[in-house]
Amino acid sequence: MKTTVQTLQGSRIGHFIDGAFVAPRAGVYAPSYDPTTAEPWYEFAQGDAGDVDAAVRSAKAALLDPAWRRMTQTDRGKLVRRLGELVLAHAEDLAQLECRDNGKLIKEMRAQMRAIPDSYGYFAGMADKLQGDTIPVNKLDTLNFNLREPIGVVGMIIPWNSPLMMLTGTLAPCLAIGNTVVVKPSEHATASALALAELVIEAGIPAGVVNVVTGDGATTGDALTRHPGIAKYVFTGSTDTGRKIAGNAAGNLVPCQMELGGKSPHVVFSDVDIERAVNGVVSGIFAAAGQTCVAGSRCFVEAPVYERFVEALVERTRRVKVGHPLAEDTDIGPLALAAQLEKVEHFVGSGVREGARVAVGGRKPQDEALARGWYYEPTVLAEARNEMSFMRHEIFGPVVGVMPFSSEDEMIALANDTEYGLASGIWTRDIDRAMRFARNVEAGTVWINTYRSAAFMSANGGTKKSGYGRRGGFEVMREFSRLKNVVIDYSGAMQDPFVIRLR
Ligand code: NAD
Repeated sequence: MKTTVQTLQGSRIGHFIDGAFVAPRAGVYAPSYDPTTAEPWYEFAQGDAGDVDAAVRSAKAALLDPAWRRMTQTDRGKLVRRLGELVLAHAEDLAQLECRDNGKLIKEMRAQMRAIPDSYGYFAGMADKLQGDTIPVNKLDTLNFNLREPIGVVGMIIPWNSPLMMLTGTLAPCLAIGNTVVVKPSEHATASALALAELVIEAGIPAGVVNVVTGDGATTGDALTRHPGIAKYVFTGSTDTGRKIAGNAAGNLVPCQMELGGKSPHVVFSDVDIERAVNGVVSGIFAAAGQTCVAGSRCFVEAPVYERFVEALVERTRRVKVGHPLAEDTDIGPLALAAQLEKVEHFVGSGVREGARVAVGGRKPQDEALARGWYYEPTVLAEARNEMSFMRHEIFGPVVGVMPFSSEDEMIALANDTEYGLASGIWTRDIDRAMRFARNVEAGTVWINTYRSAAFMSANGGTKKSGYGRRGGFEVMREFSRLKNVVIDYSGAMQDPFVIRLR
């Protein structure tokens, strides 16, 4: 794997098309910034419509090439498994890349690199288990069956938070099915997708099956989502961008899978162990500096324990260590980009103006060593109200609003009073209540007495403005394959050509 922190430093990197790095046709590059210093550290190709077209053509040619098309499912599965093994073999280099590119914690990235190979292994095992079915139609001497086939060239647009993990969730099943792909990583975290593309070739997957075009959303992403050669899009990112992509895709009548933003409710009842619930809430909002789609950013606490809970949350939050992402004892690294830091500052400011109280945090860390980076202290805004601006918009930063509630009905109304519907969490010992919450909350995922407990074996995704379509489990295999219905008449009988055969 040539793409490492050491080789990238101070250099330029092109797109990965048809199994090799290529320079952008227009010769334009853009800087990638190190979030710990706000300084550029390498340049990536800024793709235009011509680059995107070359990548889609490469993927289309690979789709039709017998080397991929006529490969048995079992052999395809072996290659997908091999790709996972290579990720494990290069885990440290990949983890370092993610840290440097977007400020992810080294300890979290090492853990992700250990989990990602399992995900490739899981979907590799499904390659030869995707099957159609025979349909008992009411016609004699007729065999009617469904074939499951690859859908075609899949366009994948991914965000900067945990890019390799996000990519794996759909790349692994897409490859297992026999699709080919064009990936556009985020302009804020380009390197790991390019490194993975190298491993794809090393695994023995034919050139052109996986292509990576880099660049920003407005140019490269827009060109990809307008390209007529794409059969389906998978997008992970913000709701606003999702709207644009779905609009472009509609122009070509192409379906999308949308994994969008969230403003997830995290509920605490007074019957729980407060320390445990506090820990869950901290993990739900401050992990990855709040830059997770499932962040539990609206915390609703039952009134009798509200004061005690806020006190305990503040005390635990003070112990969260903000620091350099490469330090083993760091809990929160920097935000991945300058605009993200500005957004956090904006919403904390508006929250205070609207009457919330900064219980802890609410500023950049005072540590001189962190002064140049895009760091922000974990922040608890108490006495929040659901109608406050910071409680309505996805911040994607380490900010949680906490407010009391008095009844279960009120809590459900508050939890659902949002345009989003991605994740939700509840802490209670009352199983009946927990199940009522699970039934009534408008969210794709419900966590009971836990939070951010992810698994690639179970299907997950959003409702409302958090998106549509599901990833994980066998569900994703259905989403990225297509049914074809085949009918065989073995009666040998002559039919009246002007009468449709209904029986
Ligand atoms: P973003 O929407 O700004 O960008 C995501 C990707 O879309 C990037 O690759 C970007 O270049 C591209 N893009 C931007 N504008 C485009 C356009 N007009 N046409 C085509 N592509 C375009 O999101 P982000 O800031 O990178 O990531 C954060 C967002 O992602 C948050 O809203 C977060 O909730 C969401 N997210 C959701 C999930 C999920 O599973 N639901 C997971 C991770 C992140």
